Amino acid sequence: PAVHVDLSDRSYEVIVENGLLSRAGDAFVKAGISFGNIAVISDENVAEFHAETLISSLETAGYKTSLHLIPAGESSKSMSHVESVCRKMIRAGHDRKSLVVALGGGVTGDLAGFVAAIFYRGVPFVQIPTTIVSQVDSSVGGKTGVNVEEGKNLVGAFHQPRLVLVDPETLRTLPDREFHEGFAEAIKHAAIRDGEMLADLAALDAESRDVPADLIARNIAIKARIVETDEFETLGTRALLNFGHTIGHGIEAAVPYGQMLHGEAISLGLRAALFLSQKYAGLDAQHAQSVLNLLDKFHLPLVLPDSISTDTVLEKLSRDKKFAGGKIRFVLLERPGVAVISQTITQQDLRDATEHLRTPLS
Ligand code: NAD
Ligand code: ZN
Repeated sequence: PAVHVDLSDRSYEVIVENGLLSRAGDAFVKAGISFGNIAVISDENVAEFHAETLISSLETAGYKTSLHLIPAGESSKSMSHVESVCRKMIRAGHDRKSLVVALGGGVTGDLAGFVAAIFYRGVPFVQIPTTIVSQVDSSVGGKTGVNVEEGKNLVGAFHQPRLVLVDPETLRTLPDREFHEGFAEAIKHAAIRDGEMLADLAALDAESRDVPADLIARNIAIKARIVETDEFETLGTRALLNFGHTIGHGIEAAVPYGQMLHGEAISLGLRAALFLSQKYAGLDAQHAQSVLNLLDKFHLPLVLPDSISTDTVLEKLSRDKKFAGGKIRFVLLERPGVAVISQTITQQDLRDATEHLRTPLS
């Protein structure tokens, strides 16, 4: 399947097909990519499994490539890696006529996208995501950037890709924990926009790496439709994608670095948001429970460890959230597939919801 992302002169196709990585060169030609020089950016893990397949496909199609690796892991999403990748690209002969390709997860995509946004004041780029998180979420939408000491994703640019190629078969080499983590975002998409997809996710074998291309494409379509209405997050619609992310980010920031994956923190954040949705948006208990069951099925955490204090979570989350008149903007679920932005959540509500995460699942 394919999803068209309609953003006037920044429109592009997302193609989702098993085995697509080995046909990337043809897909580039079909998409009209005429740039001769391609800088492939990847991380050391991903490159070991998948770089050769991609590069030989691109070279066979007539493109000239160079490969630039970053170490695997979130700490590569930094300004110093942006600088070193840019300098290596210049030394490899790239210039403003080059194209950047991101091969990897969200870390590679965010970094390579930002490099593309600023290299020679901006060159086009192609996303080839290889994790669930990046396939269903980060490769589409044009948010690129890096972390700084003061916080995650605080420096970056909007820069839409020219093309996104998703090969679900690349997920076969992904470690279990990173595989399951990504489903937090898929469950989030289903919850806010597609109640039926909750049932489809529930029917999936959580241990099988044969994730249907169609399911990934439907996730991308949800993200695409939201991005199309609010590309630069000025209207608020795009904020719906933050469902589960307010308290989730607080938890992520409260945990010592590296102990909890983003999707794991978001799983807890989703449980907290479901709790508040029941209280303030009329979500019925049975629907909330079905989302919790789904998170549990993908081995995502739902109980907050005692080692993480509620005060720390609240302190971390209020750093990047604005409280106006004691209230915060917060995404609530009315029913499966229908999310709303509420202006009524208070500090005390956030505290109650975080405390609720200490209770065992019923
Ligand atoms: P990641 O890129 O770090 O990948 C996770 C791990 O899996 C890494 O160790 C990587 O080397 C490895 N890996 C990736 N693909 C593999 C494969 N096919 N086989 C074997 N190993 C593989 O992390 P992620 O979860 O993909 O992305 C997280 C990042 O995405 C965060 O920095 C987050 O801020 C960002 N993000 C961005 C957006 C956006 O809109 N731009 C949205 C969501 C998340
Ligand atoms: Zn997320």
